[in-house]
Amino acid sequence: MRFSNQVAIVTGAGSARGIGRSIALAFAKEGARVVVADVNLDGAKAVSEEIAQLGGKSLAVKLDVTSEEDVAAMVDQILAEFGRIDILVNNAGITQPIKVLDTTAEDWDRIMAVNLKGTFLCSRAVIPTMIKQQYGRIVNISSVSGKRGGGVFGGAHYSAAKAGVLGFAKALAREVAADGITVNSVAPGLIATDIRGGLEPEDVQKEMTKDIPVPRLGTPEEVAAAVLFLASPEAAYITGEEIDINGGSHMD
Ligand code: NAP
Repeated sequence: MRFSNQVAIVTGAGSARGIGRSIALAFAKEGARVVVADVNLDGAKAVSEEIAQLGGKSLAVKLDVTSEEDVAAMVDQILAEFGRIDILVNNAGITQPIKVLDTTAEDWDRIMAVNLKGTFLCSRAVIPTMIKQQYGRIVNISSVSGKRGGGVFGGAHYSAAKAGVLGFAKALAREVAADGITVNSVAPGLIATDIRGGLEPEDVQKEMTKDIPVPRLGTPEEVAAAVLFLASPEAAYITGEEIDINGGSHMD
């Protein structure tokens, strides 16, 4: 029960097979009160219900991470309900498989808004509370695409946004380190979720993963395990860091 008495927000946690859901469930299993925040409120409620079935406590919130108003309202609601915020996981994200020459300015703005601006808005909103507590953990979900450039399913705008997340985390980590707040990221490779529009058939998965040293898709639970480590009290001396979770598809 590493997270007893702690409050953890997970954005984009309402996807039925998503990474955010696995992170939310993992926190709940270890004693945290979990804010399941998603643009899709029904999805958030379903995950919240799963947490209740485990005997955990949670709050389902409708949140568009690109909206300052939504983010501020969520923080107010959490403080009224739970009185503190210990952990923020910036997980909400969208991708789009497209080449630069086909990418419109609107595509660019949309991908940047959810993946990068959302990370900024949510982080900025929780930091005053974390400073008051002199304790906080922020963990961002970047991507191998942001480190290696491109991916099977993301365009250059997605790579740019996910690389931006890493740079943002490092700069923010320096700003808030003396207040007991750490800011880290994980960079998943290909994970078995619906972000690519549904899970691929097994033969397609085999083809997609044949050049990965660990020749399979990763699981949302494997990402959650690394996120929980970075969000734990034990990780107090790790900040501005990133953990690759990609089966060896990119090593640096
Ligand atoms: P997912 O199943 O599609 O989950 C993403 C969730 O974010 C969905 O519930 C989605 O809602 C929600 N969302 C979208 N826009 C939002 C917004 N504006 N505000 C709040 N929530 C929003 O995808 P996933 O694979 O679990 O992805 C989770 C994170 O991991 C993302 O940041 C993604 O970029 C990153 N990642 C994934 C992989 C992978 O292979 N799966 C690899 C590297 C990194 P809707 O479904 O209603 O849009």
